[in-house]
Amino acid sequence: MSNLETGEPFHYNRTVEALRPREYPTLKGTVYLDHAGTTPYAKSLVDDFSQNMILNLLGNPHSGSTSSQTSTCMVDDVRLKVLQFFNASPDFFDVVFVANATAGIKLVVEALREHAGGFWYGYHKDAHTSLVGARQSAAAGHHCFESDAAVETWLRGKDSSTGRDSKTVALFAYPAQSNMNGRRLPLSWSSRLRRSKNFEGSRIYTLLDTAALVSSSPLNLRDAASAPDFTVLSFYKIFGFPDLGALIVRKEAEPVLQHRRYFGGGTVEMVTCLKEQWHIKKATSLHEQIEDGTLPIHSILALNSALSTHRKLFTSMRHISSHTSFLAKQLYDRLSALRHHNGSSVCLIYTDAPSSYNNSQIQGPVIAFNLRDSVGEWVSNAEVEKLAVVKNIQLRTGGLCNPGGIAASLGLDPWEMKENFSAGQRCGNGDGIMHGKPTGMIRVSLGAMSTMEDISLFTTFIEDFFVEGPDHVSVAPLEDSVQISSPFCVESLTIYPIKSCGGWTIPSRMPWAIRPEGLAWDREWCLVHLGTHEALSQKRYPKMALLRPSIDFTNGFLRVRYENPTSSTTSAEISVPLSADPSVFHPEGLHSSSRSSRVCGEATATKTYASDSVAAFFSDFLETPCTLARFPSSSTTLSTRQSKAHLQPHQRNYRKTNQIDLSSLAPRPILLSNESPILTITRSSLDNLNARIKGRSTDAKAADTSVFRANIVLAQSDSNVPAQPYCEDSWRLMRIIPQRREGPDEARATEIEMLGSCRRCQMVCIDQTTAKKNEEPFATLSKTRRMGGKVWFGVHGGLVGGRREGSIAVGDTVHGIAEDMSQSHENGDTRCEAN
Ligand SMILES: *Cc1c(COP(=O)(O)O)cnc(C)c1O
Repeated sequence: MSNLETGEPFHYNRTVEALRPREYPTLKGTVYLDHAGTTPYAKSLVDDFSQNMILNLLGNPHSGSTSSQTSTCMVDDVRLKVLQFFNASPDFFDVVFVANATAGIKLVVEALREHAGGFWYGYHKDAHTSLVGARQSAAAGHHCFESDAAVETWLRGKDSSTGRDSKTVALFAYPAQSNMNGRRLPLSWSSRLRRSKNFEGSRIYTLLDTAALVSSSPLNLRDAASAPDFTVLSFYKIFGFPDLGALIVRKEAEPVLQHRRYFGGGTVEMVTCLKEQWHIKKATSLHEQIEDGTLPIHSILALNSALSTHRKLFTSMRHISSHTSFLAKQLYDRLSALRHHNGSSVCLIYTDAPSSYNNSQIQGPVIAFNLRDSVGEWVSNAEVEKLAVVKNIQLRTGGLCNPGGIAASLGLDPWEMKENFSAGQRCGNGDGIMHGKPTGMIRVSLGAMSTMEDISLFTTFIEDFFVEGPDHVSVAPLEDSVQISSPFCVESLTIYPIKSCGGWTIPSRMPWAIRPEGLAWDREWCLVHLGTHEALSQKRYPKMALLRPSIDFTNGFLRVRYENPTSSTTSAEISVPLSADPSVFHPEGLHSSSRSSRVCGEATATKTYASDSVAAFFSDFLETPCTLARFPSSSTTLSTRQSKAHLQPHQRNYRKTNQIDLSSLAPRPILLSNESPILTITRSSLDNLNARIKGRSTDAKAADTSVFRANIVLAQSDSNVPAQPYCEDSWRLMRIIPQRREGPDEARATEIEMLGSCRRCQMVCIDQTTAKKNEEPFATLSKTRRMGGKVWFGVHGGLVGGRREGSIAVGDTVHGIAEDMSQSHENGDTRCEAN
């Protein structure tokens, strides 16, 4: 197989490599590593399914028509095939079709809670959230087993701490494989529980959550006596499609489910409603009694295609198991071998047994880990995710729907989780590091169609961006000469009248007002989704870059044009008055509560334009239902939330840096700019960045100033002075000296207080003229400007406290005034969201 000596590419599985481009065209150009989330579906599955859809007339089952009979027969056949897929005999098992594994769990819980005295619930700490949630229905108490050993002790009857009353009905549930790190748990617990003398006569049932296991492993239910009573799974995790799940019930445990109270259409023989109320449940089979309403017949038809296609492509689950195990071992070995220049390891992998990746009995093809830099600081998972997006790698980060596993592996105590929650941590948000500890993980998972190339590309990605070599510098320290920087001049000024849309260049030499909330007319408007009222952003709608607002003072209009990058002829324009004339907006009161929009997650009172043609203009162009909204006038109802621009941690690491204690500043009014009133970048820093981009690869694309969406671009006035890239990071103040304006220059200078560096995300990769994404400049920024796990470029600022207005024009001279060391303070808070 391997051909390391000859240096040939390592072809481990030519069959999978050959079928991949043909069967999984959606995986072209991407490294898909979230098979534990869902695996992609094969093209032949969809082809076969669509052929069957076209050829068959499927009626609602259980009536006499031929179309109905066709459906009934098809469903019966597929039900049997599902049992056969798991080697389960229809004599001992029944299959109940459900929406997904979670719905299967809920059905079991719904029936158990109707037992007299309720039910007792025991679950393993590795349980998926959907399994943990069952405890809320367990009226007779619940217990979380914090380790395998705790389960073993309990099985041996040595544990009385579970507080279970042996007369009440009970359920013990656990995952066959952890969805967090792929650890496989013993399958023998169900049979041991059933056979154990300690549990004789007690009505205790077992539920095995196989949703994670069955995507890359066979599940053999041949021995009904040792099988779990209830087995749940989701088919999309095995085949990618259909979105359907199953609850496999051991027939001996069927009576438990008959306690369910609700009955739906299709589950009863007779129902009376008038004068008397009674019903008779169907008595033929369990699935007929609990499959409420019309079966998802088309999904079941798709499942038939899925089962047969999967067999044709991959032969058996056993093959998939050994293929994915082999790849996972390769990936594990490579990731765990990565070292920084000083020998410290890069990946901390969450696994109980380092050797487990050789053994498919105890380990599935999933790796959960966190990254550390060479001095042992955690790398923020949010940053890893941003880079993965730029590099077209699909992975999962965060809490992974596994509360017990995450808390145990990360050593998070309940008080810490409470504190993190109070500090704003929520499922799926944030940086992933709070109080010096990660709050989540990175998870990569493999599937049947994963290849050796996926492994190599991913390892290279980690090596490239996160392994620090001897010459590693995150952020170039400032040169001594930079202390007193030579003057800059204003090269260009840009405002973004509509948040996240294109910029409008302020005409040359036109003095422009600076207000406490930023440059005049900057982010006065935004686009809001008509359904959610969320403000739209370029991150999700890159085409917003092509919407070009301009301000027409002569006629008093905001004009918006769109550029069609593919054709020079199609472009359309719309305009709204600059004055906030109340008659153009949706009347207040009528919708006022529902119309409060959310900007970056915060409720903000916006006024949406009533005009249908305005809504149509933006909705048609962006292909999403949205319209224009205006923020309340800055003078009256300023948002007073404190600016989120904070000082960056790296500033602590160098001398001559800018440290202001933010708490000493008055709350700073800001509009929609989200981070701070004014964003400034310098040409010197951009040139330096572009030289590095070109240095990494000659065909890499140099960054244009527009991608940084700055308000002010500065260039060094004197071309004979050596360039001073990134000197702006050390400024405390920017003094703007007007050129050729009336009055004594110095007296009319405007001072801008610097509020810290600007944290960047992959949005800087959107070309503002074409709306196309590429990996630069974020890839190079991440290599050269990452500090404290975050990526920085440009500086935030705002009018010096107390001033009502200042002005700036292209050509003005700007002096950057660096921090006086004697005044420096520490500041630890660094959250700021680039947008
Ligand atoms: C995915 C998963 C679930 C939930 O599956 P749904 O399809 O979302 O219901 C439950 N348990 C485990 C172990 C899983 O991997």
